[in-house]
Amino acid sequence: MPRTRFILLACCCFGIAFAAGPSAAGLARSIREASLDPDECYRVRDVRLQKEDIRVYLTDGYLIFSKPVAGARRSAVFAAEVEGGDGEVLLMPPTRGERQSLALFTQSANMDEHFQAALMIFTDGSAGALIERITQDGSGRKARDIGAVLAEKWSPVMTNVQNGFQIRMIQDILAPEAGGLDKEGGMWFLAMSSRQAGNFDMLYDPRAREQIVAGQLSERNGRATYNIWTSFAALKSRRDPPKPRDPWYAISGFQIDAALDQDLRMKAVTRAHIRVGKHDLRVFPIEVSQAMQVDSVKIDGAPGELFFQDSVRGRALRGSDNDAFLVIAPDTLAAGSEHEFEFAHQGAVITPAGNGVFFVGARANWYPRLPEGFATYDLTFHYPKRLTLVSVGDLADDRTEGEVRITRWKTPVPVRLAGFNLGDYEKVSANLAGYKVEVYGNRHLEAALQPKSPLPAMDLPKVPRYRLTPEPEAAVSPVIPDPNARLRVVAADVSAALDFYTSRFGPPALKTLTVAPIPGTFGQGFPGLVYLSTMAYLNPNERPPEMRDSSHQVFFSELLEAHEVAHQWWGNVVTGSSIQEEWLTEALSSYSALLFLEKKKGAKAMEQVLDGYRDHLMQKDPDGRTIEAAGPITWGGRLASSGNPEAWRTITYEKGAWILHMLRRRMGDERFLKMLAELRRRYEFRGISTGDFRSLAREFLPPRTKSEVIDGFFDNWVYATGIPSLKLQFSVKGAAPAVKLTGTVTQTGVDDDFSTDVPVEVQFAKGGTQIIWVSSSSDPTPFSATLKQLPSRVAIAPGSVLKTR
Ligand SMILES: [Zn+2]
Repeated sequence: MPRTRFILLACCCFGIAFAAGPSAAGLARSIREASLDPDECYRVRDVRLQKEDIRVYLTDGYLIFSKPVAGARRSAVFAAEVEGGDGEVLLMPPTRGERQSLALFTQSANMDEHFQAALMIFTDGSAGALIERITQDGSGRKARDIGAVLAEKWSPVMTNVQNGFQIRMIQDILAPEAGGLDKEGGMWFLAMSSRQAGNFDMLYDPRAREQIVAGQLSERNGRATYNIWTSFAALKSRRDPPKPRDPWYAISGFQIDAALDQDLRMKAVTRAHIRVGKHDLRVFPIEVSQAMQVDSVKIDGAPGELFFQDSVRGRALRGSDNDAFLVIAPDTLAAGSEHEFEFAHQGAVITPAGNGVFFVGARANWYPRLPEGFATYDLTFHYPKRLTLVSVGDLADDRTEGEVRITRWKTPVPVRLAGFNLGDYEKVSANLAGYKVEVYGNRHLEAALQPKSPLPAMDLPKVPRYRLTPEPEAAVSPVIPDPNARLRVVAADVSAALDFYTSRFGPPALKTLTVAPIPGTFGQGFPGLVYLSTMAYLNPNERPPEMRDSSHQVFFSELLEAHEVAHQWWGNVVTGSSIQEEWLTEALSSYSALLFLEKKKGAKAMEQVLDGYRDHLMQKDPDGRTIEAAGPITWGGRLASSGNPEAWRTITYEKGAWILHMLRRRMGDERFLKMLAELRRRYEFRGISTGDFRSLAREFLPPRTKSEVIDGFFDNWVYATGIPSLKLQFSVKGAAPAVKLTGTVTQTGVDDDFSTDVPVEVQFAKGGTQIIWVSSSSDPTPFSATLKQLPSRVAIAPGSVLKTR
């Protein structure tokens, strides 16, 4: 770094126009044009490459390097195009869950694949080091003759794969680590071609939370998708968990001016207040919805460069749905300095749902932002005055100019992100002690919920699609559901939930909570703003027939709004530390909704919902596998690609609720609630990981309980799969005050190494109960106790552990 600075100064002194560094477009061009170099082709034997858990052997074949880009060679191709040529890669995932995951895709819990060809991209200087090593130790000798043939054959393949990594390669070339060199934070990417497994990838990325990923680009329903086979923290960080990396930069405030035209297409200017991290920085990775087009960026008023080139593979390996792009500053910005980035962007993020109802598509990423961090927002919206627009924070301005209404919203404290919603609304407000709740509902019914036009008499189904009124002529004109039938009920419920959670988890971050409808069957809880399914606003008997079973009715009438309100704490005060930890905030919100239901309707109502969750988890797919067996809850989005599309939702929300419920039963109500309050206190405005949560849970075990109980609990319920069948047998001998209870707990239907603490509940005739915790295993586990009086009932405590019926 000092050298660069010196040159820069020297240039300035002599008054020569100076370009601070290469442009991203220029780098991208050199990456595209850097074909394989026939002069750097080697015949190689027994070359070993290792990065943490990844071991690669280039046993016999040719290795050809690409031409340099920005002074260094960054990629290579290995081709086993010789008699008996071969390469081999070994990878052993460290946990049972990850071995299960790998086996799901490759039929083997550990990877030992032979490959005929491998394409490698290194952004950490490894390519240069490799050339040096193989020429020195003799494992490689120049093979120029074949170089030209290989270069011609493999260059197009390399260019193609490399195109998907341009963003990352440019970032690393311009990276701040080690002052502009890319050694420390650089990655290794290998794409291999094997007879057995087809084409597959392996990535080592020191900047990721889980540094090692293996996966495969595939096609589903004509669309490119990416399957993550396994993903885990590398050897070194498992032994010695690294401190979270300092972010390259942070955004502390947003000022957004967004205008919606008559067609509700958005044109916006987003000003982001940026603070550079510990290193001087020129390249700024940012994310935005794919529906948004970013037209320009200015840095402190001067034009900056934008670079876009994201790919399906790039997004999957980064664990993101958003498009990443780069902002490249004309000059390097000094560590710790503050700047204003001004983006002009536009796009269609709002789609009409018919009848004056709208669907906001890009809710979390309609403006350029970072996936993590808290910032203040100052938002101004211009929109057709026939509509009402709601956003987050306090309404600072509200005026109409001609046909345009202008509202301005300011958050009093930093929040995780800012959303907005709009429509032709009716509103109900409620004031709680110190808080304001505003619930909006659509005045009209979206097209999808409109009763279908009457069918000819002969085709009339036995059960009408919508409630019919008794008048004969009305029998063919179904009643139109009232889109605001439950507006007041929703407002009362949201207020009660906000009150209940505040008493348990402390105050929410914002004092105003706005709820507004979204067409569809889901909800989303953003800071200060909840999107609530339009279904929740309908009378239960006016919901579509397929939504009228009790589990849908409870979901739309009781659980959904309570879940979304709970996100004001779980997700907006305490956040998941990465996308892999998303299950935590979802499970916490789901279980908070159950706590609220229990308070409103009693324990039985909560247990019925949990029973339903168990039945969903035990549902079998055509192969006879249960939904729950798709994978551990910590796999997150990977559960969606594991074959059963319902698996992600059911495991995250419903098994997640069970996990918390079982923790509650293991700890006792008081300790469990204290833990939740402490979770909020300790991790306020911070990210929490599964490991952090496990450590916290250890602190709230009942006295004289070994902390291993928590490790066992997490190993079996969180990091692995399985729902056991449990049987209790017991006998009672002797008389009071020395009654001898002996018995066994037998576990079946799970892997041999599964184990859980089973609460054996002893009830006494004179009242009172006692719990004996028995650790289940593949062999029947004996237990015994001496009781002071005869028990009236001995059973596995109902509803306390997730087991088959
Ligand atoms: Zn949620």
